[in-house]
Order: sequence, then structure tokens, then C-alpha cells
Amino acid sequence: QAALKVSGKDPYPDWKAGDPVPYAALCTTFSLIEMTTKRLEISAHCSLFLQQVLRLTPGDLLSTVQLMINKVAADYAGIELGIGESLIIKAISETTGRTLAETKADHHKIGDLGLVAAKSRSNQRTMFKPKPLTVKGVHEGLLAIASVQGHGAQERKVNSIKKLLSSADAAAAAKSQKGIDITKDKGGASESKYLIRFLEGKLRLGLAEKTVIVALAQAMVKHEAAQKGNKLLSTEQMAKGEAVLKAVYSELPSYEVIIPQMLAHGIFNLRDNCKLQPGVPLKPMLAKPTKSITEVLDRFEGKDFTCEYKYDGERAQIHYVAPDTVQQFPAAKTTLQKDAGVKGLSSIFSRNSEDLSKKYPDILAKLNTWIKPETKSFVLDCETVAWDMETKKVLPFQQLMTRKRKDVKAEDVKVKVCVFAFDILFLNGEATVKKSLRERRELLHEAFEPVEGEFAFAQFGDTKEIEEIQTLLDESVKASCEGLMVKMLDTEESGYEPSKRSRNWLKVKKDYLSGIGDSLDLVVLGAYFGKGKRTSVYGAFLLAAYNANDQVYETVCNIGTGFSEAILEELHSQLSEHVIDKPKPFYRHSTVKNDQPDVWFDARVVWEVKTADLTLSPRYRAAIDDMGVNKGISLRFPRFIKQRDDKKPDEATTTKAVAEMYRKQESVTKDSKGGVDDD
Ligand code: ATP
Repeated sequence: QAALKVSGKDPYPDWKAGDPVPYAALCTTFSLIEMTTKRLEISAHCSLFLQQVLRLTPGDLLSTVQLMINKVAADYAGIELGIGESLIIKAISETTGRTLAETKADHHKIGDLGLVAAKSRSNQRTMFKPKPLTVKGVHEGLLAIASVQGHGAQERKVNSIKKLLSSADAAAAAKSQKGIDITKDKGGASESKYLIRFLEGKLRLGLAEKTVIVALAQAMVKHEAAQKGNKLLSTEQMAKGEAVLKAVYSELPSYEVIIPQMLAHGIFNLRDNCKLQPGVPLKPMLAKPTKSITEVLDRFEGKDFTCEYKYDGERAQIHYVAPDTVQQFPAAKTTLQKDAGVKGLSSIFSRNSEDLSKKYPDILAKLNTWIKPETKSFVLDCETVAWDMETKKVLPFQQLMTRKRKDVKAEDVKVKVCVFAFDILFLNGEATVKKSLRERRELLHEAFEPVEGEFAFAQFGDTKEIEEIQTLLDESVKASCEGLMVKMLDTEESGYEPSKRSRNWLKVKKDYLSGIGDSLDLVVLGAYFGKGKRTSVYGAFLLAAYNANDQVYETVCNIGTGFSEAILEELHSQLSEHVIDKPKPFYRHSTVKNDQPDVWFDARVVWEVKTADLTLSPRYRAAIDDMGVNKGISLRFPRFIKQRDDKKPDEATTTKAVAEMYRKQESVTKDSKGGVDDD
């Protein structure tokens, strides 16, 4: 029904075959998407637009998709916009001939810089008609802004933003001349609005990347059918197209590789043309939390499983191709590092697919000591862990945090790391993800040679006996690990599931047994100045979980415990850079005066936090719609554990997960605790 309501005619009639895709056309679709909250309608608008691109200007499909997902390039390309609020305000002021004070005052009143830009542009009288923006031009302009570096970078970024802004928005001017107040016009198709929101990193359309992938698949299936003159499409074909694209993307998350292949060979042939390969990092498989060993036994009842040590370091995906195989892997040639100490190409990627090679040159320099000569190409899943050279033991995570993140020189490294490998995703020209874990483990152990303090295989025990599992758990903790990762060992279910939090991997942390099941990763939205000794720093902070459905941050607790004086000082200087004038429109928080933090932050920083339990509170907003009692879920006695530099704010614990934890706890503690805290 949604599709029927949306479909029918092209959203942008003026654009002709062969024309570059007009940016205004994309913005028209954005505004249609922004005006609805219905998932099916959002997806249908998106798909309809992509069909139009495929029909008229397929060469712009890649740029269109990048702009739809609010990313200029893949994460592993290391190109980030990172434009702060003040630069954007400056660019808006200078483009529209207004003073900084006027723009700031508008920002204060309206709250959304996108709308401020739209309003400023629409009130502006322009002497000449600018050349209209195109999707490709905007994409290239944004890429150029992201890659500006070095002396005078800020000024040059502002100039490039001004250039884009000054070509934006004949449409908004027309609207405002018709007397429409575009700051109240939620779906106003203003180009400046979406340009600015893109620069801020949040389009706020409710358009998730997953939806774009599904819409892209649907558009492609329909387009191919139309080309063949086939108007009757079965739902099976649509579902098949979606499944193919999702599966291919999970193993090869690169639109730059997939889209040209899809255009050249068709969506149903994608699997043959796009395969997992070194050079394109994939999102790692994740584990589900459990509260007890008995829960693990219940889940894996009757099936074989393995208990591996859960090392407490940083997730790392190591990619390697030997010199004589480089020709087989085109992506590797552009993304992997040459001469990193080994012959061939190699790189290390984070959990987020960011390139960590500059953080761990010492690992890359030693690769050839542990790669067996017959091992020619691989993608390895592992954990980098701080290592004590004297005692020859694993060190706690805190040691690893003291390493510099960038431009590390192998010879200056003070905190030594050892690689603990636990999975292999690609080996000698072939993806191994579909094999069982038992088979993958065999391949892993055959392909590498442990070297003390450099490379080891994750310790494991294959047992179903509760006492033996308990002993393994105790031993892992004694060895400075966090607990166990329990994994399905045989059958199809034990395949590697990229980017999935799977029930076939369970984590048992040492301190679960009394807590709520897992720590949470939360976004820092605000802070309160300290009292007593702490007046010059922030003494407490306001944290939020991520509502992935609505793409907003919902407050979940205040936290003031777990910080040393030194950490508070460091946090003060780090967070001061992210102070913003007022909460963003995509923060859901209490509006009661006494609940307001002293300062608000741009949502950038993620912290791991532990809590005694979860409760309902009118002060916080986490999962409030889900709870249905006008109270959000909040953390009781939260405690700071560590900063999560490897997680982006939208990878924080979701409010859905918080609600799941709350319900799980409720069913366990029903009657023993009230569960409701009126704060
Ligand atoms: P999640 O990754 O589940 O969102 P998280 O990043 O907080 O949560 P943990 O809950 O600590 O991670 O558990 C998973 C992480 O444990 C993995 O991402 C990996 O970095 C680490 N790890 C350590 N040892 C292993 C192992 N043997 N197998 C898989 N992962 C391991």
C-alpha cells in the first residue's frame, strides 16, 4: 500500500535522461522521506528515486547512494568530514552576508543549523542565478572538503562550504517568496538544509543505511525487469534481489566495488562478481551477552561448542596479500599498505573498519615472523592485547589505552602488544566464512606459527561440563582476560556472520554473574561542573543510549563515579572541544529546568559503563515509548569503565537493547525489587 501511495510518477519531472542527477531532485526525495515516519513509505520513496537514477543517469548511482547514507566514502578510506558547528556557522554567515551574531541568534532560536542555513538563503537576494547543484558535484565537493589538510585547513574548508552553499536553493527562495516559513516547514526541500545536515553528520530523515540497501535492491530488480519488458514482478524475485545484495554487502561492504559490478552484470550475478577479499574490511561478528553458564548450556543444548578466552584489548582485522598474489586483489592495491615491514601488502582495521595501521606499525613489521611461507593471502580476526615482556603475560586493557593512536613509530613503542587470533575469514584466495568454526580453526592453526609475545592463538577448551567451564572462566580471569566467548563449533550455524550480533557466539564476562548481564556503551551528551575539589572540571555527565529506529539519542543516566582526578582533567580538556550552544534536535531529554546539564556536547564520545541494575525514571528518556508509562529506563549506580574510541556514537548500546536488558532483569527480579524508581 505504501508503495502504491508513493509510486506512480517520478519525484522530479524536470530531469532528463543523461543529465547529471540534480541535487534538488535528491532533496525533493529527502523532504518526502522526512515528512513520513512510515518505514514502508520511506523505503518506497528511496527506491523510486533510485529507479529514476537507474533509468536516467546510472553513472551517478554511486554518488547518490553515498549522499543518501550520509557518508562521503567507505569507513576504511579514512575520509571524514568532521566539521564543527563553529565552522558551519561561519560559512553560513559569510555566504548569506549576515553577521556571526545574527546566525548564532537564529541557531539559538531554531536549534537546527540546516534550517538556519535554509532560512538565511531564502531571505537572501542574489544578483545572479547560480548554476544548479548536481549530486555528483555535491559529492565531489564534500570529498574535497573532507580531504583538506595542513596549513589554513579550516579557512579552506569554510571556503569550500561557501562555494556549495552559494549554489544551493533557488527553490527555497521561491518558497519564501510565496510566504512559506521554511523553518516550520518540516519537509522543506531546501538544498542548503540537507547540505548542512550532511556536513554535521546527521540528515535526520529516519533513513537508515539498511533501508537504503533494501531500496537499492528493489530499484535494481524493478529496473532490470523493466528493461526486459517484464512488468509482472513476483515478490520472490524482489526478496531474492534483497537477499543477494544484503549478503554481498555484508561480506564486501564497499559500494565503490559493488555498484559498478551491479550495473555491469546485474543484481542476480553479484555473488559471482563481488566476493569477500583482502583490502575491504568487513564488519565483525558480535556476541550476545549471557548472565550465567547455565544460560549458555541451555542455548547450546546438545550441540558442540567451544569456550575461548575473551581477551581484553582491541578488536583487529588483519589483511594481507603476498607480492605474487597482489594482482588477484584490485581493492587491496588501493587500500592496503605497502612496505609496512613485510613484503606484499597489509593493513590492520578496527571494529569500525577504520585503518589502524598507523597505530600498530610494530605488528605489521613483525608479520613475516608468524606467517607461514605457504600462506599467501588472508583476513584474520583477532584481538591486540598489551603484553608484559618480562613476565610474558597479558596486561590489563588500561595499558593498551596509553598507546598513541596515530603516527606511531615501531621503534618508539613502549607498550608492546601481542596478537591473539581467534578466526580466519579468508585464506589463500578463498573466503572461509561459510565453513564451520571447527574447520576454520584448523585452517587458522595451519596457516600461522605462534611467536611468543608477537602472535598466539586464542586459548580454548571444548567441554560441556559445567564445572570445567567454570574452571576455564576462572583461569581466563587469572590470565587478565574478561571471561569467555562461547561459540558454536559445528553445523551450518557455526559459520562466520559478518556484522551480526549472533546467538551462536555468547559472551560470559566474569562480573556478569551479579550484574545485569553486560556493560553498556553510552554517548556523552552533557556535563555538570564539579563541586568542592572538582570545580574546575566536569564532575558528572549526562549519558544517552541510541534509538536506532528514530535515530535520536535518549538520555539514560547521570554519572559521576569511576573517574580518577587525572581522568576528570583529561575528560574536561577533551570534551570542551565538543561543547555546543544548545541540545541538538535529535537529543531526547527531560525539559525540566533542574534536570538540565551545565553544558551540552556534540554527540561524539562513547563510554563503557557498568551498572548495578536498571530502573524506570521520569527524568530519563531511554526507551520511553516502549515502556508506555511516561518513564524512561535509567541506570542505577552507573560506574565509568573506559572510553570506547573504537565505537561511533551511533554504535552505542541501543535503547532496544536497554529495554531488553530491563525486561530480562524484570523477569529475574520480579517481586524482589520494585523496579520503579521515582528519582
Ligand atoms: P560488542 O562488540 O558485543 O558490541 P563490545 O565491543 O563491548 O561489545 P565485548 O562485549 O567486550 O565487546 O565482546 C566482544 C569483543 O570481545 C569482541 O569484539 C573482541 O574484540 C573481543 N574478544 C576477545 N577475545 C575474543 C574471542 N576469543 N572471540 C571473539 N571476540 C573476542
